[in-house]
Amino acid sequence: MRMNRDLRRDYLQAIGIESWVRRGAPGAQAEVIAHVPPRAVPEGPERESGVDWPELESRVAACTRCALHATRTQAVFGVGSRAAQWLVVGEAPGAEEDARGEPFVGRAGQLLNSMLRAVGLRREEVYIANVLKCRPPGNRDPSPFEAAECLPYLEQQIALLKPRILLAVGRIAAQNLLRTESPLGRLRLHVHHFGRSQVPLIATYHPAYLLRTPADKRKAWEDLKFAREVCARV
Ligand code: SF4
Repeated sequence: MRMNRDLRRDYLQAIGIESWVRRGAPGAQAEVIAHVPPRAVPEGPERESGVDWPELESRVAACTRCALHATRTQAVFGVGSRAAQWLVVGEAPGAEEDARGEPFVGRAGQLLNSMLRAVGLRREEVYIANVLKCRPPGNRDPSPFEAAECLPYLEQQIALLKPRILLAVGRIAAQNLLRTESPLGRLRLHVHHFGRSQVPLIATYHPAYLLRTPADKRKAWEDLKFAREVCARV
C-alpha cells in the first residue's frame, strides 16, 4: 500500500515536522512506504510456551511478583492487533494508563499514534505494551528488580505475537530491553536484537519526551523511517 502523500503530510504536520515534506524534491517521488500485508490470525488457540493470550492476560492481572501490585489500580497488559508486525514497547504505565488500563493514552498516546501514522501504520494494527505492566508510584523509573520480574511477561507476549520488529520507545524501555546503560542517542539508528527470538529492535524517543523537546521530533521521524526499512527487509 502506498500511503496517500497528502495524508502523510498531515500526520507529519501533526507531529510537528512538516518541514520534512519536500514537495517536488526528487527524492519525494522515489520514496515508497514499505508495507507488508498483515499476517492472518492463526486459527484455534494461540499457544506458545504453554500459555495463550487469555491465560497470560489473567496471570498479569493477578500478578504479585513485585511490590507494584500493591499500588496499581490495575495492571496494563497491552493493546492492539495480536497479528501485528510491529510491537511498540514503552517503559511503564503512567497515571492515566493506570486508570484506564491501556498503554500510551493521553497526549503522549496521541503523539505516538501520529508518529505511527506517519509511517503508514494505524494504532489498531500494531501491538503496544510496556516493559512494566504496573505503574511505579510517582512515575519513578522502574527498579532493576521490578523490570527483571516483569520482563518474562513481555517475552511471552513476543512469543505469542511473533512480531517482525520491536520499537523500543524511550530510554528506559531501550535500556531495559537491551540490558545496557548506553544513552538513547547511541542506541538509536542501529539494529539490535531482542531475546530468544532475536527480533530486530529499533530504539527511539518516548512521545512524552518529544512533547517536552519538540526539536527532537525530527530524530524520531528518522528512527521511524529506519524501523520501517528494517521491517521491510526482515
Ligand atoms: S509490575 Fe509486573 S511483575 Fe510487578 S506486579 Fe505488575 S505485572 Fe507483576
